Amino acid sequence: MQQEHNSIRLGISRCLLGEKVRYDGNHKLDRYLVGTLGKFVQWVGVCPEVESGLGVPREPMRLVEKGGKVSLVTINSAKDHTDTLVSWSKNSVKELRKLNLAGFIFKCKSPSSALRDAKIYGENGYVQGKGPGLFAKEFIERNSWIPAEDDGRLHDPAIRENFIERVFVYARWCELIKSKLSIDTLINWHADHKLQLMAHSPSKTTALGNMLGTHDKRVKRLYYCYFFSMMQILKETATVKKNVNALQHIAGYFKSDLSKQEKQEIVEVIENYHQSQVPLIVPITLLNHFVRKYDKSYLLRQVYLNPHPLELKLRTYI
Ligand code: SF4
Repeated sequence: MQQEHNSIRLGISRCLLGEKVRYDGNHKLDRYLVGTLGKFVQWVGVCPEVESGLGVPREPMRLVEKGGKVSLVTINSAKDHTDTLVSWSKNSVKELRKLNLAGFIFKCKSPSSALRDAKIYGENGYVQGKGPGLFAKEFIERNSWIPAEDDGRLHDPAIRENFIERVFVYARWCELIKSKLSIDTLINWHADHKLQLMAHSPSKTTALGNMLGTHDKRVKRLYYCYFFSMMQILKETATVKKNVNALQHIAGYFKSDLSKQEKQEIVEVIENYHQSQVPLIVPITLLNHFVRKYDKSYLLRQVYLNPHPLELKLRTYI
């Protein structure tokens, strides 16, 4: 199934797009997101503080816990903006649902937008923990299945790759469920994504496949259960060991086609990846070459071999 990349809509904190919406009138432009990922998605920018009417510039705020309740309070004048932010967020989250977002990238550490790491102060003025910003909390509670990350964590190449991979799978899934639901369609989907899922968890991928064989004909329910299990599997890290397993699995399909020299080439390149001497993109490129050369139809359909556009420069780290 082909996904029109520019039909993928991603929510994002507006300051990451370079918009001057921060409390001090500045921005937090993220060049990779805007310049690279931005070529393949449509951004839906959200700035809870500006859009709820707090203006630019504004007094900086922080989260403060009092009697078990977390509030959004300005640092100097102690003005409480919790009700304004929460009521705006509830409404905004409802509106965002209509846009079918395939993911959301939040600004880390923000008391409104952070996904998990906004500082929470006690009444004594000391930090006593961390948690989500008020808008992010509202969004996640109502959209827990949508891939979400923050810009800080996305600087880690493995986390970035995992997030973008989930976004592309989720966007394809949204296209899939626009067509008539059927067991055969779901079985085909599973076949297309089998190696990709195996790279995250071989045992859970087998269990997921078994789910398709033991269904009780309630198709809608099966789609629902399959989707949540699949997204959980994709959240697991695709380690080198699990990728090597998937690569060797692919190599097994060529046994009778390859020359001795070609077999040696594949063994060497997978081992080089295993030893962290080359990034994943190297064995993937070689295997893609043989898939096309020997016209292996089962492999040609494997999303694992082309999960996202090459221009995103993923799978290139060691
Ligand atoms: S972190 Fe959130 S609230 Fe703060 S400027 Fe960025 S988008 Fe606006």
